[in-house]
Amino acid sequence: MPFSDLGLSDKVVSAVSAAGYTEPTPIQAQAIPRVLEKRDLIGIAQTGTGKTAAFVLPMLTLLETGRARARMPRTLILEPTRELAAQVEENFNKYGTNQRLSVALIIGGVSFGDQDAKITRGVDVLIATPGRLLDHFERGKLLLNGIEILVIDEADRMLDMGFMPDIERICKLTPFTRQTLFFSATMPPEIRRVTEQFLSDPVQIEVAKAATTATTITQNLMRSGGDPEAKRETLRKLIRAAEGMKNAIVFCNRKRDVAVVHKSLVKHGFNAGALHGDMDQASRTRTLDAFRANELTVLVASDVAARGLDIPDVSHVFNFDVPHHADDYVHRIGRTGRAGRSGWSITIVSSQDAKSVSAIEKLIGRSIPYLEAIEAIAAPPEERAVDDRAERPRREGRGERGRRSPQTAESAPPASVPARAEAAPRPERVARVPRTEPERTKPADPTHERQRMPRDRDQASLPGDDAGHMPAFLLRMKRTVTVKKN
Ligand code: AMP
Repeated sequence: MPFSDLGLSDKVVSAVSAAGYTEPTPIQAQAIPRVLEKRDLIGIAQTGTGKTAAFVLPMLTLLETGRARARMPRTLILEPTRELAAQVEENFNKYGTNQRLSVALIIGGVSFGDQDAKITRGVDVLIATPGRLLDHFERGKLLLNGIEILVIDEADRMLDMGFMPDIERICKLTPFTRQTLFFSATMPPEIRRVTEQFLSDPVQIEVAKAATTATTITQNLMRSGGDPEAKRETLRKLIRAAEGMKNAIVFCNRKRDVAVVHKSLVKHGFNAGALHGDMDQASRTRTLDAFRANELTVLVASDVAARGLDIPDVSHVFNFDVPHHADDYVHRIGRTGRAGRSGWSITIVSSQDAKSVSAIEKLIGRSIPYLEAIEAIAAPPEERAVDDRAERPRREGRGERGRRSPQTAESAPPASVPARAEAAPRPERVARVPRTEPERTKPADPTHERQRMPRDRDQASLPGDDAGHMPAFLLRMKRTVTVKKN
């Protein structure tokens, strides 16, 4: 089905084809007509499914009539991190190229001045992280009672990051008559409750990510001494030996290790950058842009800083530390092997990591083979198998290269991620959820609320950066969605 059959305006359809997209993804095909009908919507989908365009394209079409008023944005999109907010803004710029809409980004880590000026002039689309949005509201510079469409994106990550009270408060500050579009990769009970409270008779659409992204990842473990210096040396050797490496993300468990590993790599002559929650917005954006443009080869990152980023072709992921939470492992290695490309993930393991490794193997349902020697990483990605079961005889015939460790070589099936095994979209379900939202209440006393919440909660001061988050992946693996029908 072409984009022109979905009910989008001519301007939007022509911008989409200029962007090079010919066919809508399953979530786009299902969601766009419903959003254009002004229905509330629950989209159960991860990043990588094309969900951003699924709300951006119909919003652009709907915004063609009407105009923005001073301090009263017409639409509001909430994102858990600054990078995701910036990615959504890029989508509006790309697909809104034939329109004259005003788009403002309201994120922490940058000064209030320019953001204030833009809001005061009037914006059609406000893209915000929850903490900074409420800061603007409390300063009296922003009115939310003109919001026609509210998008809550990545709701399960908002939950992980402690943003749910802010989201509920923002919902209550926007008009009862708004259209609400709600996206989440999983629907734990806390999130289901929020949808029941704030959405009116929503259409529910659920799609799984295409299988190709996950089955292309080859996973290995690499033994190392446990002290940081030994691990840094192992990492350097691995990177030097990885012949087919185009670029890599190195994950560390702690923010301070991100800084140390980054500094050490640079000192040893590697073209490396760092991404963690304590960096100011300008340096994060600079680093990410440089990595996307292949000006940086290695990006050292913490989990929260890297999650959800759309970096399409990372050839290698190195886990400098074994993640404490098994589901973080799945998110990390999902940075490689995207969009059908092959990728390699290597986890540096010391004797202290046995418990964490077995938790990961339990979660993914198979053991991860050890590389017997660092040189085994030299095989360029194209020589590695997409399904390494088919490739195994050839690899084993090449001496040491690619050989599996004795404990896993013969018995283990290929280590790949099982979670995204379904390519087909699930059928649409219609949830009839009665609107139970209470009447507009006065905002809670801001002074009180400020005492409970850190001032700028947009990622820099998140508890989760070092500590991990709830095992959302488990929920995703066994996705059972219960839909209320009255
Ligand atoms: P998202 O799930 O929104 O993060 O999108 C993931 C990637 O898919 C982005 O790089 C988009 O540019 C790309 N994309 C979005 N829509 C389409 C489409 N219809 N066809 C091909 N790629 C798309």
